[in-house]
Amino acid sequence: MVSRFCFKCGKKTNKLIDGYCSTCYKQRKVKKKEKEKIYELCKKCGYMKINGKWTLQHKQNVKIKNVVCDVCSKKYGDYYEAILQLRGDFQERHVDFCKRFLNKLERKEDRMAFFFLSGKNKEIDLKIGSKKAAKKLAKSLKNRYGCKIKKSYKLYSRKAGKNIVRDTILCRF
Ligand SMILES: [Zn+2]
Ligand SMILES: [Zn+2]
Repeated sequence: MVSRFCFKCGKKTNKLIDGYCSTCYKQRKVKKKEKEKIYELCKKCGYMKINGKWTLQHKQNVKIKNVVCDVCSKKYGDYYEAILQLRGDFQERHVDFCKRFLNKLERKEDRMAFFFLSGKNKEIDLKIGSKKAAKKLAKSLKNRYGCKIKKSYKLYSRKAGKNIVRDTILCRF
């Protein structure tokens, strides 16, 4: 005769572990594990790493460890893959266009589209985190303003036996 039951689900069984049937006991263990798991949260961008992916969605009520994510460590570590140079007769509005274009790209599709702007007057350089983003911007500038695009490659350094090549894209207005 079965006289005992799981206090969680009410199933009658003589095999109880801490008052739970085997199914409820397993579930409880999984939940406990989930609670003890520590989630990485980037203190720069606010993204959380969930199942190996950085996402803006957050898990609630979990333990958190503050870190700097891969993208932010590049962004704040002077990393860039391409230099887009504005030369010739360009104006402030062209520079603004570049900024807006990259900001939007970074927000919407390519987190590596971050950039640093340097130079002044008639020579502006945009150091851009992703080659793809730099190419897109150059194409857009050409279509919109008809500037001439000249691409050249520049050898930058060697890392772990590999040559690191950065794209240089010259946009002449
Ligand atoms: Zn149960
Ligand atoms: Zn981050």
